[in-house]
Order: sequence, then structure tokens, then C-alpha cells
Amino acid sequence: MTPGLPLSRCTGCGTGFFPHRLICPRCGEASWQTDRVEAGVVEQMTTVRYAAGRDQWEPRYIACVRTSEGQVINAGLEEPLPEQTAVKLFDRDGCPIARRALG
Ligand SMILES: [Zn+2]
Repeated sequence: MTPGLPLSRCTGCGTGFFPHRLICPRCGEASWQTDRVEAGVVEQMTTVRYAAGRDQWEPRYIACVRTSEGQVINAGLEEPLPEQTAVKLFDRDGCPIARRALG
């Protein structure tokens, strides 16, 4: 896993997006610089207990995380975490993962 998530920052207005957009919905610019975001806070969490067509399924935890840059993203959790838990963000083969921030 790579620490942080890739953030596309609009060169027109400075807004950061994850995932990447083709055109900035704020200002219409289509030029980007690459940045990273590494921290956030859990806003909501849900447990996925069933997947259609799967016989073997362990419960999985998915959270809405507000990043330190203000985006709200969906991230996988390795354990259930209560709302307002501070997390660090990771990139696991293109999938956002959030882990409880230590300290
Ligand atoms: Zn923009």
C-alpha cells in the first residue's frame, strides 16, 4: 500500500479532486497538477454483509471520509471505526483505504 491518495488539483482555481476529472466542475479548466492527500476523518461507516452471487463473503467496512483537503470520498476500512475517527489514507492498487491514525 502506498501512503496517501493521488489528488488532481485544478490549475485554474486550485480545487482538488479524487478521483481525477476531465474538466473542473468549479471553473471549467482542464489543466491539472498532481498532489496528494494523506489524512481525513470518518463521517459515516457501513458494513457490507452480502454480495450477490457470492457464497463466501466476509463482512466489509466502507466509510465516507472527509479528507483534510475537504473532499468526501469512499474508502475501505480494515476494521469498523466510529464517526469522527481520524484516519490516514492509503492507495491499495487504486483503491482508497483508510486506517485509524495513530497518535
Ligand atoms: Zn477549477
